[in-house]
Amino acid sequence: MKIIAIGRNYAAHIEELNNERPSEPVVFMKPETALIKKGQPFYHPEFSQDIHHEVELVLKINKEGKYIQREFAHTYFDEIGLGIDFTARDIQKKCKEKGLPWEIAKAFNGSAPVGEFLPVSNFPDFGNINFHLNVNGKLRQKGNTSLLLFDFTTILAYVSKFFMLKKGDLIFTGTPAGVGKVSVGDHLEGFLEGKKVLNVEIK
Ligand code: MG
Repeated sequence: MKIIAIGRNYAAHIEELNNERPSEPVVFMKPETALIKKGQPFYHPEFSQDIHHEVELVLKINKEGKYIQREFAHTYFDEIGLGIDFTARDIQKKCKEKGLPWEIAKAFNGSAPVGEFLPVSNFPDFGNINFHLNVNGKLRQKGNTSLLLFDFTTILAYVSKFFMLKKGDLIFTGTPAGVGKVSVGDHLEGFLEGKKVLNVEIK
C-alpha cells in the first residue's frame, strides 16, 4: 500500500506557514513504513527538534483506479478516518529553501499514525465534515471540509492521473490551521464529528 498526501489544502494553514496558495493540489507520498496503527505510540526521532502535528481527514481507497472521472470519484473510497501527517518542520524548511524534495521531513518512520476508520455512510455530506485535534486535552486544530481548497473529488481525479490507486491506499487530505510542535509526553486525540477515533502518545 501507499500513502498519498495533499499539502496546502486549507487557506488558513497556508497563511500560518506563509506559503503560496496552489493552483493545483500539492502532492507528496509516504511509504508503508510511515504508518502507525491501533493507537501505537509515536517515537520522537532524534534528527528533528521541531516535529509538528498536522491532523488530517484520511480516505481509504477500496478499489483500483487511474484517471478516475469526477462523477465516479466517490465510489473509490468507502471509509474515512483521521491521521496525523507528522512533519519535521526544521528539516522541511531547509528542503524548501534549497528547492529539494520533502521526503526526509515528511515520510520518515512513523510519520503517519491513523486511527479508526468509519464507513462513508456515516457522512451524508462530504462537503461538511467536522474534525478536531486535542493536545493534552486542549483544542489545537479544528477543521471542516467546506474549507478545503481541493475537495475529495478533485483530489482523487488529480492524483489518480499520476498514481494508480489500489485497494488499501490512504489519502491524507491536508491540515487546517493550528499546527504546532509536539514533545515527548504529549497526548494527541483526534475527533471526527465529535467521536474520538485517533489516539497517539509521543514517546
Ligand atoms: Mg499535511
